[in-house]
Amino acid sequence: TPSEARSPSHRGLCTPPAAVDAGVAEAKRVFASGRTRSMDWRREQLQGIQRLLQERASEIHAAMHADLGKNDVDSHLTEVLSVKSEVKQTLKHLTQWTRARSTSVPLLVGSARAHVQRQPLGTVLIIGPWNYPFHLLLMPLIGALAAGNSVVLKPSELAPTVSATVARLIPQYLDPEAVQVIEGGVEETTRLLEHPFDHIFYTGNGAVASIVMTAAAKHLTPVTLELGGKSPVWVDPSADLTSTADALVWGKFSNCGQTCVAPDYLLTTPEIAEPLAREIARVTRRAFGTDPSAAENYGRIINERHTERLTKLLGSGRVVIGGQTDAAARYVAPTVLLEVDPDSPVMQEEIFGPILPILTVADHREAIDFINARPKPLALYAFTEREEVREDFQERTSSGGLTFNTVMTQLAVSSLPFGGVGASGMGRYHGEYSVATFSHERGVLRKLPGFDPTRWAKAPISRGMRKIL
Ligand code: NAD
Repeated sequence: TPSEARSPSHRGLCTPPAAVDAGVAEAKRVFASGRTRSMDWRREQLQGIQRLLQERASEIHAAMHADLGKNDVDSHLTEVLSVKSEVKQTLKHLTQWTRARSTSVPLLVGSARAHVQRQPLGTVLIIGPWNYPFHLLLMPLIGALAAGNSVVLKPSELAPTVSATVARLIPQYLDPEAVQVIEGGVEETTRLLEHPFDHIFYTGNGAVASIVMTAAAKHLTPVTLELGGKSPVWVDPSADLTSTADALVWGKFSNCGQTCVAPDYLLTTPEIAEPLAREIARVTRRAFGTDPSAAENYGRIINERHTERLTKLLGSGRVVIGGQTDAAARYVAPTVLLEVDPDSPVMQEEIFGPILPILTVADHREAIDFINARPKPLALYAFTEREEVREDFQERTSSGGLTFNTVMTQLAVSSLPFGGVGASGMGRYHGEYSVATFSHERGVLRKLPGFDPTRWAKAPISRGMRKIL
């Protein structure tokens, strides 16, 4: 069986090629059997996820700590509770989100009924990243199962303990034939991508997204790409600096800034920059003490390579707080930089770490021009008390999401679509949007006896009719 072929792998985390193929074939076989379409089956899977979260949270926390140094409170909030809330919402609305919707029929068609049917797509591939390694696999999985698909899950090899935990726990709580977990890195994912899936849902960086989309194009497989990029923050002079600093410190430094919707850089006026930086420094000290390397609530960078990458960005401005690093310990202190040049290294790529550059512009309109001159962000934040500023951001910018006076909590609102635009991705999910993403909306028309205008088309055109036409 595929699971026997996979289990004692000589390469540890990786799945042998034959087992990759067998896992995909098994998921496809189950979908073809029709099992995953039943509403009872879908409900059982979602309840399975609920039980997994209830009974195995401590194992998830331990894996999170091993891979990312996340403390239990942080991982409970961002990895377990968020998924719990999504699965609860989905179970509550499952019937409503999956049922057929009748729609009106124009007179031209005559007597008929029409409805839109939400059908499962088939077998879908979900590829996860390392930064929220559990959450970002399970959230799309909920939508895929609710829509009645069979699924192949590919956790990130860069979070190996979480990957192994997912591979061990999922078959215990979900239909082990319909939900296959394939562990591994580039080689295994490349192999997976050779198979014709019915949908591919990828979360990660843009360069790999392009590889995924190219492979998908061979089979005309639709993709959802959840990517990242630099998410800017405008801090208006009208904003309350203390609550702004509170939100920014939490958003930027939890998970060490390794969050796709983390505030990447700040734009503000020259008068606000210095007091804002001081306030952020004060809140940072309050949150993590004078030595964050000893703080229990401060995490670590995923690996040495990323720690070294981040270290090189520290020279891009004047350090207001932080600046210390330790590559061997995968530590980068929470850091705020002032006097940052837009052409400096820290402004060239998504930071994805605990470094917060502050840049100055004349006003919010110049901030909008600055943002619009760069790739479309996944998240865009503005702290302001002014209606006019809110309107300008809403009307003159484009981004995956737009959030005022807070950061990252937009993710918790499952009635809002979550996804990017342009360089930050394509497609959306969460709540009903997930079910829509993993469904095909089929138009179904049923003609009824009675009025049939096609009869006219078949009849010879009379002189009177010719006049009307
Ligand atoms: P990663 O390195 O774990 O890669 C993501 C996935 O792609 C992994 O499963 C990996 O095995 C696979 N992969 C890597 N190289 C591949 C290749 N050559 N061919 C096929 N598959 C390959 O994660 P990452 O990309 O470093 O993640 C960080 C990025 O993801 C950031 O840019 C971040 O903003 C973005 N992100 C976006 C979201 C979102 O929801 N939009 C969430 C988290 C992270």
